[in-house]
Amino acid sequence: MVFEGLADKLQQTFKKLRGRGKLTEADVNEAMREVRMALLEADVNFKVVKEFIAKIKERAIGQEVMGSLTPVQHVIKIVNDELTELMGGTQSRIAIASRPPTIVMMVGLQGAGKTTTVAKLANLLVKKQSKRPLLVAADIYRPAAIKQLQVLGEQLDVPVYAAEPGTKPVDIAKQALEYALAHTRDMVLIDTAGRLHINEELMQELKDIKREVKPHEILLVVDAMTGQDAVTVAESFNNELGVDGVILTKLDGDARGGAALSVRAVTGRPIKFVGMGEKLDALETFHPDRMASRILG
Ligand code: GDP
Repeated sequence: MVFEGLADKLQQTFKKLRGRGKLTEADVNEAMREVRMALLEADVNFKVVKEFIAKIKERAIGQEVMGSLTPVQHVIKIVNDELTELMGGTQSRIAIASRPPTIVMMVGLQGAGKTTTVAKLANLLVKKQSKRPLLVAADIYRPAAIKQLQVLGEQLDVPVYAAEPGTKPVDIAKQALEYALAHTRDMVLIDTAGRLHINEELMQELKDIKREVKPHEILLVVDAMTGQDAVTVAESFNNELGVDGVILTKLDGDARGGAALSVRAVTGRPIKFVGMGEKLDALETFHPDRMASRILG
């Protein structure tokens, strides 16, 4: 389970303080030392941890305790507030175009789970928002990706636009938009090409698509299990291309949660969805407050 180690440690830290009528500054400092260690062990970005602890100390030390809360409950509330804030505060939604179709460009490195996530997102949009998505197979360098998307589209009963072999990704995307208009599809989800590493060619291709297609949303798919590497990837994509949000996949296999806690603070971009398994219904909207509560139990 995600945040397992972190949740255990924080809960232990606060348990020790329970029952105290008053917390001294030394108590708070000791507790914050433990929280800091726990966050670092969870692979949270070093700078993020530093700022986070400083904020909590500032709020926790020397403040009047609110009416009904015990001193330790008060500190837990502050930690809960700040964890929520760290992960983006409120839930971030996909921008919907005022005139359909809404164009969503999905980007990411190979293996992050991009193609699967395109299908999962379509499923969510159909089930929860009664949308009529069109999937677009523009990952032409991994031929299996086109077939994979077609198979997933069939399972979901959602159409997949695939072009003649040899068509350039930017042209595929443009043709797909015409198709969407002609067939009244209100969301266009473009599965772009990934690479093993970020390189000039990949970014250029993505920039070309962005310029020609003018997506309403660019969503970056990163693998939570890669921890701080996922954060570095997010930073690069955001600096080079600009992204509107992040989808964190494989959170079901990430016991630490470092990427989930660092992405927003490092990149300034919110996590919008999380992948919680391989199945098509295993994509969830990301709620910072619920995630924080999960950590504090
Ligand atoms: P792409 O190269 O980025 O398009 O990656 P794929 O969509 O082909 O996914 C790579 C692998 O990750 C596949 O085996 C997926 O089933 C798996 N995967 C994707 N998302 C998740 C997730 O949220 N949890 C788990 N456990 N596996 C996932």
